[in-house]
Amino acid sequence: MNLYDVIVIGGGVSGSSAAMYSARFNLNVLVFAEEPGGLITTTHLVENYPGIKSIGGFEMGQTFMEHAQETGAKFKYSRVDSVEKFENEDGVMRFRVMKGDEEFIAKTVVLATGTKHKHLGVPGEEEYANKGVSYCALCDGAFFRGKTACVVGGGDTAAIDAKILRQFVEKVYVLVRKDHMRAEPTNLKKLEDDDKVEIMYETEVESIQGDGEKVTHLILKDGSEMKMDAVFVAIGWNVKNELALQIGADVNDRGEVVVTREARTNIPGFYAAGDVTDAEFKQAIIGAAEGVYASVQAYNYITDGKD
Ligand code: NDP
Repeated sequence: MNLYDVIVIGGGVSGSSAAMYSARFNLNVLVFAEEPGGLITTTHLVENYPGIKSIGGFEMGQTFMEHAQETGAKFKYSRVDSVEKFENEDGVMRFRVMKGDEEFIAKTVVLATGTKHKHLGVPGEEEYANKGVSYCALCDGAFFRGKTACVVGGGDTAAIDAKILRQFVEKVYVLVRKDHMRAEPTNLKKLEDDDKVEIMYETEVESIQGDGEKVTHLILKDGSEMKMDAVFVAIGWNVKNELALQIGADVNDRGEVVVTREARTNIPGFYAAGDVTDAEFKQAIIGAAEGVYASVQAYNYITDGKD
């Protein structure tokens, strides 16, 4: 049987921070990193992490993992299928984490599973996924050199995706359903000043059309047609809360795991950190801090039973 002090589920900024701090507390830590480096690795440049003026998202995710590994945390690059709390034969509460039929036992668990992209839910979106419909401008932008692309969404992700795409494509349209964007003013200004980018407010996609092989045009809600080669969907995320629901952690109406400022959930020994939690502002710096809180709580719980 493998007994760990802390099992961290998630290998993004938050999970790696929890792992790095736990390892510095001399705890025996295992991280399950289904998506090594996490969502930040799909970001082009991060320019708002205090103390680091500018860093590539991929490099940042990798560096967080390396830091945890060099401090002593072990990583497995796979998903977790289930997690449960149980009382062992000595009457001690433990967590059982399953990967397929492999069992891992832990004294504490830190859930840092983050989020997954929201889908528009319009006709053509699934049919043309990877044939012009994408959720990652950084990953797929270069496939559309010299073409026309659009970003659907009005937040920071949409603004940053448009900035990435303008390097490759002829023209980028940003389709915003409201009459304003809610992106950071600095990000919005860059788009407004860019001739290659056109923001279209109060514009919604009715369906994505194609020739069977690739996207060719959009039908908008007002009935008009728009020639289009690529559609980048950037309308936010849903949290990956399946394991939290499974173990009975409280979630809010958005499905986010309810935590105290110290990363405690309603289940003693089970902590949550990063974008999966109900923290209002989903930023790398916040996720890193929540990961640190979770490791401190895990340490206290293991050493003196305090939660
Ligand atoms: P947000 O939730 O901030 O924005 C989603 C956008 O998509 C909104 O404009 C929303 O419109 C729109 N939207 C939602 N559903 C639909 C739909 N079905 N059809 C059309 N439009 C839709 O998500 P983001 O991914 O942009 O950002 C999430 C968080 O991550 C934010 O806190 C953001 O600040 C942060 N972030 C920060 C970055 C940075 O470097 N500073 C980079 C990227 C993200 P509406 O306004 O009408 O609801």
